[in-house]
Amino acid sequence: MKAVVMKEPGNPGVLHIGESETPEIKSGEVLIRVKATALNRADLLQRKGMYPPPKGASDILGLEAAGEVAEVGPNVTRLKKGDRVCALLPGGGYAEFAAIPAEMAMIIPENLSYEEAAGIPEVFLTAYSNLFILGRLKAGDDVLVHAGASGVGTAAIQLIREAGARVIVTAGSDEKIERCLELGAAAGWNYNNGPFREWVKEQTEGRGVDIILDFVGAPYFQDNLRSLAVDGRLIIVGTMGGIHVDNLNLGFILRSRLQIIGTALRSRSPETKIEFTKSFVDFAMERFKDGRLKPIIDSVFDWKDAAKAHEYMESNANIGKIILKVTD
Ligand code: NAP
Repeated sequence: MKAVVMKEPGNPGVLHIGESETPEIKSGEVLIRVKATALNRADLLQRKGMYPPPKGASDILGLEAAGEVAEVGPNVTRLKKGDRVCALLPGGGYAEFAAIPAEMAMIIPENLSYEEAAGIPEVFLTAYSNLFILGRLKAGDDVLVHAGASGVGTAAIQLIREAGARVIVTAGSDEKIERCLELGAAAGWNYNNGPFREWVKEQTEGRGVDIILDFVGAPYFQDNLRSLAVDGRLIIVGTMGGIHVDNLNLGFILRSRLQIIGTALRSRSPETKIEFTKSFVDFAMERFKDGRLKPIIDSVFDWKDAAKAHEYMESNANIGKIILKVTD
């Protein structure tokens, strides 16, 4: 099969269309003919050689795919050839074919294209599992989402809104803040105007937020702790700004009964990913069908232009997902 491959790690220019082994399906699996996949920050790190795939996963980039079921393995009853599905992958999305456990497949609602569906699995499942399962999100909570216009951020805003909770965001431009407000954020802070800590206190009448979904890491850590309400949860999903924190006051964490949760979806077991997927499908699919939830697509690149798509993500310009369309 054709796939986006690279001879060695490096800058976006190492990515090109080449040949790779077509995956073989096992019992309980289906083979998907991939129509579209999407970029994730992890792809940029893996391309640079800084994020090896988990043991047993394909070394082709790509954590999600949308496509048509091309082949059904033994012991699969819920899917048939031709079904339109999308799914999380541990790797291997930038390819003509991907094999997945049938139970991981989400049926694509009729109103969504393959390009739109490819923008769902990774960011929505990341936001959903972290907020609802690890973060115990409930109606009435106040939630702060950093990088609100990111792929994960745009999914998180919509899910928090649908849970009946209040979401506020930070982002790096007024245009990004505006888009977050359209998606349901109650307020936004452009971090170029200064630290967010006092603004969060103003937004919550001094109480702080119940949950923070953070992708920035070290530079935000101290202000994140000070922005949480008593019993608040800081969920660390990314560390784009750095990983080392100095002068940490553990007493404050103890007195305010804070919880700090670190999380990575890719390395979780297939069983856990299936459990998250089923729970997410129950919550989200009707909402995708009637338009309450939408995959937020920034741009669609032909997969032959995967290098350009990577450069674009590295420029931090996107609002929502960058999609790769798999063409002949
Ligand atoms: P994305 O769409 O590319 O958006 C990333 C945005 O983050 C950038 O556009 C930029 O927006 C902001 N940003 C980048 N560097 C920053 C920095 N140093 N300080 C502050 N903001 C910065 O990314 P994504 O694919 O949604 O991923 C978002 C994060 O979630 C990444 O860290 C990714 O690794 C993580 N993630 C984690 C998991 C997991 O399981 N743990 C799963 C999926 C994704 P601004 O202009 O607003 O700064």
